[in-house]
Amino acid sequence: MFDWLKTKRRERALGTHAIPDSQWSAALDELPFLDHYDATVLARLRELTTLFLVEKNIVTGAEDGAHALEVTAPMRVLIALQACLLIVGRGATVMEAMRDFEGWDNVVVHPGDFPRTYDYEDEAGVVHRLDEPIAGESWYNGPVLLSWPSVEAGYDQSGMALVIHEFAHKIDMLDGVVDGLPPLAGSARSEFADAQQAAYQDFYRRVDAGEDTAIDPYAAEHIDEFFAVSCEVFFAEPELLREEYAAYFEQLQRWFRVDPIAGALAREGQGVN
Ligand SMILES: [Zn+2]
Repeated sequence: MFDWLKTKRRERALGTHAIPDSQWSAALDELPFLDHYDATVLARLRELTTLFLVEKNIVTGAEDGAHALEVTAPMRVLIALQACLLIVGRGATVMEAMRDFEGWDNVVVHPGDFPRTYDYEDEAGVVHRLDEPIAGESWYNGPVLLSWPSVEAGYDQSGMALVIHEFAHKIDMLDGVVDGLPPLAGSARSEFADAQQAAYQDFYRRVDAGEDTAIDPYAAEHIDEFFAVSCEVFFAEPELLREEYAAYFEQLQRWFRVDPIAGALAREGQGVN
């Protein structure tokens, strides 16, 4: 019953909250890695973006003061569109695809890097408090935080896209565990994990050896960062990821059900979910 009501509400939202053409094409213009996507993908992306904007709040993290940031409609579209790229191939319907983004409501946009405060205990048992400026963060069952300058900066640096990165963490968290794996079961899970581990081990070794890698070396930090960074590259510079880690690329393609090189939905040989 609840699902039925929600579906009705979403269907209505698609009709009444359509994104104006000018805003939609302006957002697409900012994202050259979407240039070659076919009409089916783009239509689905637009519907999902519409639903995202209705269901999530994209708010400012700095309402007043010298660094106040106003979150405008074009900014919201740009953020929502990139988030929805992660679910554009998922689910038989857009309503189903939105399930990957359930359980939280807010995206908070900051005027710059923001401090993340955390405590850690050293070997002597002394607790230290660290303030580390970060560009983005995803909370389990909570908000996604983004630094607006870093959201914008991404478009000029191929293969980097902060919004995709942070929402990839949301996909990782879907099964309640932050382990770099989307919620998969059985052989689909082990095939994904095997391909990912092989790629991660190789990448870690290269970064550790001081190699100047084309993929952001931040991916070597931890397996969950490897997943988030590889999702950025998968969408923003897919040829690079396929070239470097073809088997892992194929697993990502199976999960996302999108062929980012062809710019089309990947409907063949799935058997996942
Ligand atoms: Zn991350």
